[in-house]
Amino acid sequence: MTCGALAAIAAGLETAFTVDASRVTFGPGALGEAGDRARALGIRRAALFTDPRLRELPWFEEVRASLAAAGVDLAIYDRVAIEPTDASFEDAARFAADARADGYVSLGGGSVIDTAKAANLYATHPAPLRAYVNAPAGDGRPVPGPLAPHLACPTTSGTGSEVTGIAIFDWLALHAKTGIASPRLRPSEALVDPRCASTMPAEVVAASGMDVLCHAIESYTARPFTRRPAPAPPTARPMSQGQNPWSDLGCREALRLLGAYLVRAVRDATDGEARSQVMWAATLAGIAFGNAGVHAPHAMAYAVAGRVRDFRPAGYPDAPLVPHGMAVAINAPAVVRHTGATSPARHLEAAALLGADVRGAEGADAGELLAREVIRLMQAIAMPNGVGGVGYTAGDIGGLVEGTLPQQRLLGNAPCELPRETLAQLFERALRYW
Ligand SMILES: [Zn+2]
Repeated sequence: MTCGALAAIAAGLETAFTVDASRVTFGPGALGEAGDRARALGIRRAALFTDPRLRELPWFEEVRASLAAAGVDLAIYDRVAIEPTDASFEDAARFAADARADGYVSLGGGSVIDTAKAANLYATHPAPLRAYVNAPAGDGRPVPGPLAPHLACPTTSGTGSEVTGIAIFDWLALHAKTGIASPRLRPSEALVDPRCASTMPAEVVAASGMDVLCHAIESYTARPFTRRPAPAPPTARPMSQGQNPWSDLGCREALRLLGAYLVRAVRDATDGEARSQVMWAATLAGIAFGNAGVHAPHAMAYAVAGRVRDFRPAGYPDAPLVPHGMAVAINAPAVVRHTGATSPARHLEAAALLGADVRGAEGADAGELLAREVIRLMQAIAMPNGVGGVGYTAGDIGGLVEGTLPQQRLLGNAPCELPRETLAQLFERALRYW
């Protein structure tokens, strides 16, 4: 053992990391395995979660038929809201309790999978909603035991929800996005069928692709796991461990794939190779951030999305909305310019994986080079020009900072301290980029 490792143990710092990952089946036709896989998980009666748009697509019928052929009884819930709320989580939990299902199947984007996680949690371990919600918004009570088996089938290439133990929702009374985080929430298995990517609108591929990009960049540049205090007991090690060698693998490959395929995937719905590779990148980045955690761009995004006034993006339901990936991406260049100095080599490597020429670059250029590469991608796929591009002005910065400060779980995973004044500067620099 090195002197450094001995000193870290003596100082009570973390010296180990844990790899937590679901079983994943990836490939065209994977949805057809739903029935056999549900039976193998011991599911005889499944609560099948989806949303009204997906119910009309062929993927729903394929999963339903596969489950029926395997003899799995179904209770279907198709009322999942595009951005789940406390009210919609409670509605889904009531449905699940009444359905008397012994397992869950979710088919949809992050909203559908998160709703199934919450329904499973509250039907299995009944409690008021706030009980398991992250503190300080909720009580942050640990989930007391295992949940029913859950087979997650993502139909978008973004959130990585199928491989993480996180469920996000809008707490309407608090005007804030918050969530529930526990390894017990992680689906038992994921079926990732890249054919589903062919039915995603271009705008959804763009926004969710930027979410994947930020999962990879933030996990790769997060506070190193060795800088956290060691947990006691060790089984209390958080899912947001910080940057670690396991997550690094998925981050690097996700960044390389996005650099090569994201623009193609957005511009051409018939480019099956590009859309499939972006879906694989989403899965890899999901596994990575499920073990490392994201940081400032996501923390800031909750304020950006939660305080929306009248921004109505194309390709989404006609309502004021900043899609999650868009809300994250528009903060990212400002953040990496600030964090570049904390790990110049990692910021340079991320820029190079995305396609930047970093020959001859100095460590001092690292944040700027990565920011430019993110901005280049944002322009190529028609992302808004910064926080100003979704309707905010300098007068909104105070409110945006107030909306970000409660996200301490995420801010604490950043590679440097981000007090109120620094967050204000970051929002100011994120107002416009070009
Ligand atoms: Zn995200």
